[in-house]
Amino acid sequence: MKLDWKRARKEPAPLEMLEELTAAALDIVDQASADRFMEQLALWLGCAVALLLDSDSGGQVHLWSAAGLSSNSRGLAISTPLAHSSWSTLALPYPELASPELVRSCIPLGESEGSAEQSQALLLFSERALWLPLRYHGMVRCLARGLHTALGRRQRSGLFLGSEFSLPQEKALLQSLNEASRDGIALFACEGQLIFANHRFSEMWGLDEELRSGSRDLLVTAAAAKVMDPAGFVARAQYYLDHPEVVGSDDIAMRDGRVFYRYTAPIRSADGACWGRGYYFRDVTSRRQSERALRLERDFNSAILDTLDALVVVLDRRGRIIRFNRACQRATGYSFEEVLDVTFWEQLLLPQDLELLKAEFVRLIESKQPRQLENSWMARDGKRRRIAWSNTVLLGEDGEVEYVIGTGIDVTEQRQAEAERDRLLAWEQEARARAEEQERRLAFLSGASGLLAGSLDEDSTLRGVAHLAVPRFADWCIIDLLDPDQSVRRILVEHADPTQAERARILRAHVPSLGATLGPGKVLRTGEAELLPEAALVPAGLEFRSCLCVPLLARDRILGVLTFGLMAPRRPYGTVELSLAQELARRTALAVDNARLYLAARQAIDLRDEFLSIASHELKTPLTTMKLALQGALRANRAAPQVETSPLSMPRSLETIEKHCGRLTRLVESLLEVSRLQAGHLELDLEEMDLSSLVREVAARFATELEKARCELTLRADAPVLGHWDVSRVDQILTHLFSNAIKYGSGKPVEVEVGRIGGLARLVVRDHGIGIPRERQGQIFRPFERAVSSRYYGGLGLGLHIVHQLVERLGGTIRVESEPGAGSTFIVQLPCAVS
Ligand code: ADP
Repeated sequence: MKLDWKRARKEPAPLEMLEELTAAALDIVDQASADRFMEQLALWLGCAVALLLDSDSGGQVHLWSAAGLSSNSRGLAISTPLAHSSWSTLALPYPELASPELVRSCIPLGESEGSAEQSQALLLFSERALWLPLRYHGMVRCLARGLHTALGRRQRSGLFLGSEFSLPQEKALLQSLNEASRDGIALFACEGQLIFANHRFSEMWGLDEELRSGSRDLLVTAAAAKVMDPAGFVARAQYYLDHPEVVGSDDIAMRDGRVFYRYTAPIRSADGACWGRGYYFRDVTSRRQSERALRLERDFNSAILDTLDALVVVLDRRGRIIRFNRACQRATGYSFEEVLDVTFWEQLLLPQDLELLKAEFVRLIESKQPRQLENSWMARDGKRRRIAWSNTVLLGEDGEVEYVIGTGIDVTEQRQAEAERDRLLAWEQEARARAEEQERRLAFLSGASGLLAGSLDEDSTLRGVAHLAVPRFADWCIIDLLDPDQSVRRILVEHADPTQAERARILRAHVPSLGATLGPGKVLRTGEAELLPEAALVPAGLEFRSCLCVPLLARDRILGVLTFGLMAPRRPYGTVELSLAQELARRTALAVDNARLYLAARQAIDLRDEFLSIASHELKTPLTTMKLALQGALRANRAAPQVETSPLSMPRSLETIEKHCGRLTRLVESLLEVSRLQAGHLELDLEEMDLSSLVREVAARFATELEKARCELTLRADAPVLGHWDVSRVDQILTHLFSNAIKYGSGKPVEVEVGRIGGLARLVVRDHGIGIPRERQGQIFRPFERAVSSRYYGGLGLGLHIVHQLVERLGGTIRVESEPGAGSTFIVQLPCAVS
């Protein structure tokens, strides 16, 4: 039917419209008449398209009837479920609705807004908003609902009529199926009357009479009498009657011991309408019994597992815990419920073991072979349990791993005991090693002590130490000595490898620098031992794996350094070796110091002995001369006592005696002076004086001696050089220097100069005599030191020592410049003002 738009645009006459539509509604016998009704409705309301829609319980929307849709469009399914939309916005697949000018009007057919009844709606599409007074909305809704009901009825009756012809066959088929079923089946109409029950049902329940009556109530009452819980049974039956949509299942315990599994569900027609309820009963007595037996067995197995001391954990192939026996629970503090379905690495492993054990799990699954491992579990209280596992797999029917069974023994205490035992063992071994080390150390040191005690010679002492150390303690031993003038002498390089002689030679020639930042030079400077545990490069291309430098310290003085070097592959030096080396160095330094003291003492004794022989010779010479002079005088007197002694001979003897007396006095005074100086008893009597005039005075005193020695003296002491000095001490200085210049001047000219440089008076005494060997020049200022043979030159070796002491007391300096055979120059400098 085509839409009559002119008519549609007319104002509708409600009464006329109602009459026409009611008549059309009454005519509805099939889908076509329903569609005609819709077309009339659309025409009256001026709609291009009118749709009557319905949604089922799943939200699926169906088209009941329509006007303005092609047959093709009617065949299109509405894909959007209502649950995701609402009637007014529902997406529809019909091309007729494509025009954007069409306005949708929605008339829900429910009783009230939001009720479940709103599963139906009338949708009207027109070019403008629907013209329909509000009061007609209800009417349209009633008409549409009537249409819906009528259509529903027609559909059902159509189905019924359609199926009427095939019903006998279908019924026969259904019955045979039902009879063939192992389940007892009873079908009831919604109102409760029995529609059908199969043979198996009556066999199971034994309710033939009640079945024949067809009464549901009789059946329920009779059946209730046969079950263990009649009241529950009746209440359940009533519940299903009151709730036709409900699906349920349960077990029913029969009085005779059987167990029926009951399943019940609504029976629906093809359109989804519920028209009855089916009950399906299955005798599950034996199944439940076997289930119970299985459960019992499982409980039994569980009991066994739980009574075992071993830990048993069963995992599925994804690692989730599905069994966790008591031993596991005791070990971890977790209950089975807490770990059920948890992957074992999430709950029980230490973070550091995680990846390792996951990989192990994968290997186990892949290899399907039993594997052993030991790992730690973290208990709930944070303590670790050490567990030795034996893991195996259970394969499913498909041959793939279904379960992993881990059987473990808690070895925590055992491992702790082992660790304790290992610790004790290690401690014992360490203690033994320490004792042995101590023993070796003592043996080494006692060897060193024996060696050091047996020698009073510095050189052999040091050589002995080096021999002792190499190769027992070191592969290389180097000894450097520090002299009082801060010069370093490398005196020894000892090594174990004869092929290294050339390197040793190079090393011997290398003298460490006191400015070095490490090694022997630094130790000589700081006096502190140094341990170089890393590879240290040494001269001569040697590379020590490890190196030790220890100072030789005695009486707070650094005498030298011992350097010990180790070559690979020997173990590097540590603190133990360092302290051993220090002890060795301490003893060595003591021995060296003793050797030096001994040497000094020996030299002092030799010097004293030499002095005594010289002194006795020096003293004896004037005494002998004096004795001879006296004896001559006495002899002359005895021969002619009355005769007056020759006036010529007597005074000559007396003069000789006096001269030698003076010499004796000077010798004794020198000795006294030295002992006074050494005792520190030297008082200075300072006064202003002129050094030039004193030099001239002393020179005049030496006139006779100069003449005797045929020595020419040149004096340059004209200008006065004033200063505060002790006159008698300066006189002593001049006397000793003049006397030496004449004594060792070989009769050659002697020059004396007095001058002044800044605040210093400068005295120079130069001769051109025998001179002094270079190596002796440093020693001649020490007491009793002489650089000449006493056979040719008399003297006690005290003069220069006294001069040196006096000059120092006056705050000045004295030095000598000399060439053997060319003469000597003594230079004295005195500050003019003594502080
Ligand atoms: P003595 O002259 O009694 O031996 P001194 O102390 O005066 O003692 O001198 C020490 C030594 O120094 C001398 O024995 C001598 O060897 C050396 N000596 C001193 N003065 C001179 C000099 N002018 N020329 C060479 N040798 C000298």
